[in-house]
Order: sequence, then structure tokens, then C-alpha cells
Amino acid sequence: MIPPGATLGILGGGQLGRMTALAAARIGYSCHVFAPEPDSPAFAVARATCAAYEDERALEAFAASVSVVTLEFENVPATTLERLSRHVPVRPNAAVLAIAQDRLAEKRFLAERNFPVSPYLEVASPEEARRAFLAIGGRGVLKTTRFGYDGRGQRVVSSPREAEEAFAALGIGPKVLEAFVDFEREISVVTARRADGAQASYPPVENRHERHILRTTLAPASIAPSLAAEAVALAEAVARALGVIGLLAVEMFVTRDGRLLINELAPRPHNSGHWTLDACPVSQFEQLVRAVCGLPLGDPTPFAAAVMDNLLGEEVRDWPRLLAEPGARVHLYGKREIKPGRKMGHVTRLLPLEGGLKR
Ligand code: AMP
Repeated sequence: MIPPGATLGILGGGQLGRMTALAAARIGYSCHVFAPEPDSPAFAVARATCAAYEDERALEAFAASVSVVTLEFENVPATTLERLSRHVPVRPNAAVLAIAQDRLAEKRFLAERNFPVSPYLEVASPEEARRAFLAIGGRGVLKTTRFGYDGRGQRVVSSPREAEEAFAALGIGPKVLEAFVDFEREISVVTARRADGAQASYPPVENRHERHILRTTLAPASIAPSLAAEAVALAEAVARALGVIGLLAVEMFVTRDGRLLINELAPRPHNSGHWTLDACPVSQFEQLVRAVCGLPLGDPTPFAAAVMDNLLGEEVRDWPRLLAEPGARVHLYGKREIKPGRKMGHVTRLLPLEGGLKR
């Protein structure tokens, strides 16, 4: 157990790190954020080291200053985590990260353990992309295996020729062709797991995307209780199989015939869990701190339903109106540069739990 008063190390300096540091402070921890970008949003609320993830000296000094290291960003090199773990516990560990940061490794991990995923094929050339398209049949989504986020690094393809062209357009490196899922809705579950195996999960939420970027989260998802229980059980089983310490967000498709297919895993706080800041006794960010420090996990039961809207790009300019709106809970990430689709903040509105979510 790492008691309040200790310093938590966070790899990555985005809004997820910023909100983790704020939540950690609330229960008496300090944070030290390690990130390569000088304008990292988390630097404003924690001790900061601005250095490359490969900078051995900076990593050693960072490790010496913290009691445990966690991360808010998947694309930290797994070797960075291995290096840090010689000096300090790293939660989640390098093995978990190596799976979660590579789509193919992730799909293999899930498929080999009989967790439900949509059919997929690994493709290493335009010709293989064409053949894979024919083998999968119907529409597909071609994705890079690494560094994809918010729809970057993926293309929907509807013909063998489009598959070939998309392979070239997505740049070098291996790719995965997945069958296109004609889903009824997308949901996700954020689950927390401690080193001793204790687990706690927030209820499934529904996610609406626009151009592959999360637009809105409706919490809890209005799905049958049996399906919600199945989604939570699935997320918890995946977290156990991975041996995650910290958080695991599991994104799933609900198919039109009511089955769940796992789309993606993220071993960190997740955009679809931001609503927990305003509608649950303990937020996903505090839950992460509790999980990696071995504290009692918090109660994930919401006291309200919530609608969380991301403020993307120019939408953040609406902040004066949002701040004046009664009941709107506004979160701004302090990013100086506005770019199209960039996550600049979010706003959560609460509703009564019963019958609140019809949208
Ligand atoms: P991802 O980066 O894999 O999370 O994909 C981002 C979004 O693209 C998902 O949340 C879906 O809305 C859409 N998407 C990804 N893969 C598929 C698929 N196989 N079938 C249908 N839609 C998909």
C-alpha cells in the first residue's frame, strides 16, 4: 500500500494526466508528470519533467522521485516502462502496455482466450489487403496496428481496390483488416483492478462518435440489465486475463442481434469515463490512484445519469455560455492551441437516474 502523502508518477501529460493529478491531490497525493511536450496540459497542475521517453537520465531521476508510476497514454515505449520498473512499481506494467498499444497483439490476445472480437486478418501488403477484403467479405475497416487514435490510422473500405489503396494511404507498417460491424450501438466499461485482484466497475455507457471521434457519452447506457451485466463481466474478465493493475477501458459494439464484440482496450482513464467526475462518488481518476496505490476501491455506483459532450476544436470558444448555464459542469483542459477535432474540454449535464436518458 502506498499511503496518501506519497508522490505518484504519471507518464503522459494530456488531459487524462491532468485530471488524474487533480484527483490524486484531492486524496492527499502529489504527482510528478513525465511527458515530452513542453505545453502538456498536466504540467500546470503537477511537478513536471519535460523529456523524451528514451532519456535514461531523466527517467532515473523521475523514478527516484515517485513511489509508483502509472500512465495516461498508451504510446509510451514499453522499454521506458521496463526501465522504470527496475526502480519503482509500474502499474499497469510493460507487458500490458505492449498488448494494448498494438492492435494486432490486442486482437490475438483476445481471440486466443475466446473473448468476442469481429473477424480480422493481418495484412502486410496492398495485395494482402485485397485478398483479406475478399476473404472477410462485405465492408471492412483497415487499421494501422500502432499509434491510431480518434480515427487516425483507419479507413472504411468497400471494395478490393479500396482496400489496396487504403493500405498505401495509411503509410508503412503492418495493418489489420477488420470486418465492418453494423452495430446497434457502441458501449464501454471502465473497470479498476488492484494488485490483490480486487475489482470495481462503472456501469456500461453508450458512446456516440462523429468522424471516429467521441462526441457524446450517455451514462449509464440504456440497455437491458442482462446485457449490462454481461458487458461488465466481460470487461472484468479481460482485466483479470491481462493482469492489469489500475484501470482498463473496454470499448464494445452491441450487434443488431444483441451480441457484444470487443473493439478496443485502453489500460488508462478513458474519455468515456469523464462523466464519473460529476455523477459518481469516486471518479475514474481517483479510482486509478486508489487502484495503483492499493487503497480501498471507491464505490462506482452513479448517483445521477449523465450526458457528457466533448468540446472539440472551436467548440471550446463557447465556454462563456457554458459556464453561465445552470447545472452544466464544465471542464477545460488549458490547451493553448485549438485544432480541428482536438479535445479541448468537456461538459457534463446530470439527469435523474430513472428515465433520464432518452436522446
Ligand atoms: P477505434 O479507433 O478502433 O476505436 O475506432 C474508432 C471508431 O471507428 C469506433 O468507435 C467505431 O465507431 C468505428 N469503427 C472502428 N472499427 C469498426 C468496425 N470494425 N466496424 C464498424 N465501425 C468501426
